[in-house]
Order: sequence, then structure tokens, then C-alpha cells
Amino acid sequence: MKMSRLFAPTLREAPAEAEIASHKLLLRAGFIRKSTAGIYTYLPLGWRVIRKIEQIVREEMNAAGGQEIMLPVVQPAELWQATGRWELYGPEMFRLRDRHSREFCLGPTHEEIITELVKSDVHSYKQLPLLLYQIQNKYRDERRPRFGLMRGREFIMMDLYSFDRSPEGARESYARMQTAYEAIFRRCGLSCRAVEADAGAIGGSGGTHEFMALAEAGEAEVVFCPDCAYAANTEKAECVPPPAAAPSPSPIAAPPRAEVATPGARTIEEVSALLGLPPERFLKTLVYKGDGQYLAVVVRGDRTANEVKINNCLGPFRDLRLADEDDLAALVACGSGFVGPVDLPAAARLAVDSEAAVSAAFVCGANRPDVHWRDVVPGRDFPLSLTADLRLARAGEPCPRCGAALSGARGIEVGQVFNLGQKYSDALSARFLNEAGKSQSFYMGCYGIGVSRAMAAAVEQRGDESGIIWPLAIAPYHCVVVPVNEKDPAVMAAAMALYDELRAAGVETVLDDRPERLGVKFKDADLIGFPLRLVVSAANLAQGQAELKRRQTGDLEFIPLTEAVARVRLILEEN
Ligand code: ATP
Ligand code: MG
Repeated sequence: MKMSRLFAPTLREAPAEAEIASHKLLLRAGFIRKSTAGIYTYLPLGWRVIRKIEQIVREEMNAAGGQEIMLPVVQPAELWQATGRWELYGPEMFRLRDRHSREFCLGPTHEEIITELVKSDVHSYKQLPLLLYQIQNKYRDERRPRFGLMRGREFIMMDLYSFDRSPEGARESYARMQTAYEAIFRRCGLSCRAVEADAGAIGGSGGTHEFMALAEAGEAEVVFCPDCAYAANTEKAECVPPPAAAPSPSPIAAPPRAEVATPGARTIEEVSALLGLPPERFLKTLVYKGDGQYLAVVVRGDRTANEVKINNCLGPFRDLRLADEDDLAALVACGSGFVGPVDLPAAARLAVDSEAAVSAAFVCGANRPDVHWRDVVPGRDFPLSLTADLRLARAGEPCPRCGAALSGARGIEVGQVFNLGQKYSDALSARFLNEAGKSQSFYMGCYGIGVSRAMAAAVEQRGDESGIIWPLAIAPYHCVVVPVNEKDPAVMAAAMALYDELRAAGVETVLDDRPERLGVKFKDADLIGFPLRLVVSAANLAQGQAELKRRQTGDLEFIPLTEAVARVRLILEEN
């Protein structure tokens, strides 16, 4: 490809809304363009990267026994109603009606439709296991589409579904997929880690792992144990209750609760500073609205409530969100900073995190403006009818398996594997005849990889201030040939010859034949992230040489022109 013809409009500045490196760089380097919130066009360079990731995914899925198919994007509501997910999926689902007013959705995932397919065409254990996958656009009307390809509303996913005749078979498929995922991410040049996860709207009974590309820009937080194999998303990570966590009420020597004036002090930091007490001596009460119902969740002042655990323990809800100030005004006569669990109106269900349900004296809001209670004892001053693990785990806390202090990191979820059990096959009566001639439901698994998100994750993990550093395996092109002066016929002829030879040798090459200054060409080469750059200049030619630069390391070397192609091929093979 000649750079003068390549549709890769680079930008000097990234649009202000681009917050993270991958979003900025993919826009600036001309890989993607935004159509509307969370919806993007892939330009030629971007599409080449996507196609390469897809190909790696395809090869590994085929090697693991998967067969590629293509399911419909547009799916009838009835199937989703049968599993209860038409309701449960809530506002994240894009819904539409046809001319006869029948309801449909744009597939956010495909468990229902594939189960229906297998139900109608697979009848015997002899046809199992069956692993079917597709690579397709998915549609999710995310509450906060952001970070470019990271959280889109239309995005590319590989989804594989496994059908087995027994729980052991399903576990085998699951293990096989985990191994395949590891190979895929390794080949894509991503450094990933599998962590225990929450099953979310997919559900299922058999456990689930997320594959996290570790990166500061990741939206997920993970904890992992330096001593044992435990690793989990903080949403999922079990919090070990403190040793003293005796179920209250238990008599403690705390004076009766008393009011303290806390004018204008709304946040834990403000009240903590005002009263001279550390945040762990406070109780934070968060009021949520789950499908219109109020929930008050109490966690210690230094902790963060965990919406996933709240949803699993108190829900599930189609729509769980923090109550706004209007909601609060309807429930209690104060703003959010002064809500507390003592004498909370019955309209709110009260749930207390196990760590906050200990027998100790706390400070909390008094449900009146500018007033807090002190010496509030859980169980004595408010009921502990519902206590559970409702908070986010944090680095430094004890590992729930071995007790060692957990380490923490941020990650980008690039894939997830689910052992679903019989959730979907039961709901849709998808059954087969087993060895004994009895009818039974399939054991299923589902496995997703965010193809477009993986592309962004690769940029997050390896980019630098000059631009993208593509791993060779997914780079849009391997090599760029830069003639130093395209008006010099000898230089141009040598560059052209090199370009032709490289292409003939199977090296994906771009020739930067634009009448641009050298600095501009070099900047663009670094920005786009060609793994290899070959410079042809009059001075180099006089020595019969070309200059080779590796984007990853910045290393420069001079190689004889006659050996350039062999050298480049060797580098590609080594990688
Ligand atoms: P998240 O928690 O990030 O919203 P999810 O757990 O809902 O993701 P899955 O249902 O597990 O997503 O989908 C499989 C994969 O698809 C994810 O691991 C992720 O890589 C990708 N993915 C999910 N949602 C998006 C999105 N909005 N934009 C881009 N990729 C996504
Ligand atoms: Mg997931």
C-alpha cells in the first residue's frame, strides 16, 4: 500500500472527549472514527487489526473444536421472554418493533437463539459435545459508552457456546476454552490474567472467569494473592469479615447514642475532620433504587459499596441505581450526606455489610440535615435483620483462601468464560436423549471475547507518548519504507524496489511516498505504530545500506540493502 493512497487521516490533536491513550491514539492515527456515542467506523488500518485479531481467534477456536456459524443480530422477543431476560436485561437492550408491532431486540448476546437452534437440530448424546461460535457485532445500550472501543454500544465479539451431555463434559469444555483464550491473548501480544468473576446478566451456576488485560486505564479492579492462585475481580472477591465480627446484638460498653451537630458536613472526609475520628469509625448509608424500591446499604466509612453484590444479594434488579436527591427527599428529610440506619423509614429495606455489623460504636447520619449520631451500635440502635458481604474488596486485605495480603491491579476485561449449567436449556426445554435413552437438558457454557476491546487494550498496554506500538501479530502492516527524498530518482527507485521485494516476500509493507517532510513521515510512522521502519536515503544508498528501526525498542541498525528482506523476514519469524 502506498501511503499517498492510504485512507488513514491522522490528526495532530485528539478530540477533547478522548480521555484514555487508546481512544486518543486510535483516533489520531486514523484507525477509527466516531459515528455517534459508542458507535464507530473502522478505517482501513483499524479494520486490518480487527481482521488479524479475528483470525487468531478463529484459528484457536477451530483448533479447540469450535465450528464457525453466523447467528442473526435481530432476535424475536419471545425467546428472551422464555428465559426471563427480556425483562431482566433492562435498558441496556436495544429493542425494536416490526411493521406488525412484533417485538425484537438487537442481540446483546446469543444464548437464547443458539439454544433454540440446538434444541431443534440436536437430539442425541452422539452429537455432543458441540461447540459453535461466531464473530459478530453486539448491541448494548450501555449507560456510559466511553473510552472509544473500550465500551461501545455496537462492538465486535466472538461468542462460543458449548453443549455437553454431563457436568464433567461441560467442565472439560470450559477448561479447553480457558486454554484457548490464553493462547489467543498471548498471540495477540496482550498480557492477561484470568480472575474469578461475577456472572452478571448471563447468569448460570457453574462459575465464571474474566480475562483481564492489566492496564491502568482498565475499568475493572482485580485483586490477586501473591502466595496462592486466588485472583478475582473486586466485584466478586470475597471479603473476609474481621475476626471480631460477632453477630450483633451483643452487649458492649458503649454509652447511649447521642446527637452531634455537623453543619454542612456531608462527606465522610468532612465529618471525619470535624469530629476528629478516622473514617472507619463511621457508617456510610447509601440509598439505592432497585426497580422503584428503596434499599439502604450500610458500609463502614472507609469502604465502598459493591453494586454487584448488592444486586446479587438483594435483587436481581432490572435497574439498580443510587437514589437522587428527589428520591431522598421523598424518603427522609435530609440530603444524601445525612442518611443513616437509625429509625430509617420502613419504605427502605436495610442491608448491612458484615464488616459494619460488628459490635462497635460508630458515627452515622441522623436522617436530619446537619445532624449525626455518635455511639451508634449496630444491632442495638438499628436492626441487623439483613447482613451480608456487600462491599468491594481492596488490595491489602487478607486473601479469602490463604490469608496473605492481596495485591491489586486495574484491568480491561477482554474476555469471559461461563459454565452455565442447565439455565438456558431448562428454560427453553432444550433436551436430548442420553446414553440410557432418557431425555435430559444440555449442559452449556458460553465464552465471549471482546475483539474490538482487545484492539484498544493492546494500544493501552504498549503505546507510548509518540503513538501506538503494535505487537507484530496484530499490526495493520509489518513495515513502512520511507524514502528520505521522494524527488531523488535513485532514492525513490531503491525504495520502490525494496517495497516490491518485501511485498513479494509476504511482508505487509507501506511505502511512504508522500511529498512530506521527513519529520512528518517519521512522526506518522511512530503514531501509526508500524513495528519496523526502513529508511532509504542518498547517504545510505552510497553505502549500499538501509536504516532499520524497531518501533518497540527504538533500536536502529544499518543493514545491507541486499539483505534487508531476509533480515525483515527473520524478525517476523522470530516473533
Ligand atoms: P463489562 O463488564 O465490561 O460491561 P460484560 O461482562 O458485560 O462486560 P460479557 O457479556 O462478558 O461483557 O461480554 C464478553 C466480552 O465482550 C467482554 O469480556 C468484553 O471484552 C466485551 N464487551 C462487553 N461489553 C462491551 C462493550 N460495551 N464494548 C466493547 N466490548 C465489550
Ligand atoms: Mg463479562
